[in-house]
Amino acid sequence: MLHIHCPYCRESRSEEEFAYGGEAHIQRPSRPAQTSEREWGDYLHFRKGTRGVHREMWFHVAGCRRYFNVVRDTVSYAILKTYAMGEEP
Ligand SMILES: [Zn+2]
Repeated sequence: MLHIHCPYCRESRSEEEFAYGGEAHIQRPSRPAQTSEREWGDYLHFRKGTRGVHREMWFHVAGCRRYFNVVRDTVSYAILKTYAMGEEP
């Protein structure tokens, strides 16, 4: 089981308190109406699926109910860092 440090609550809590939110730093196309079907489909559905160090979002369901970012090794499950939305990793 993971222990995840929430940067807003400033404490480490059990994984059971959190929900995975997918890959972090996905940029929404700035002009959706002018975006091709292929580009829009890539934005909605395709993710890197990184093996190794990966940036992802988590939601603190049983705490502050806020999203934050996690840098995690997907092979070892080790969490290398957590940081608030809008911060640089
Ligand atoms: Zn929290």
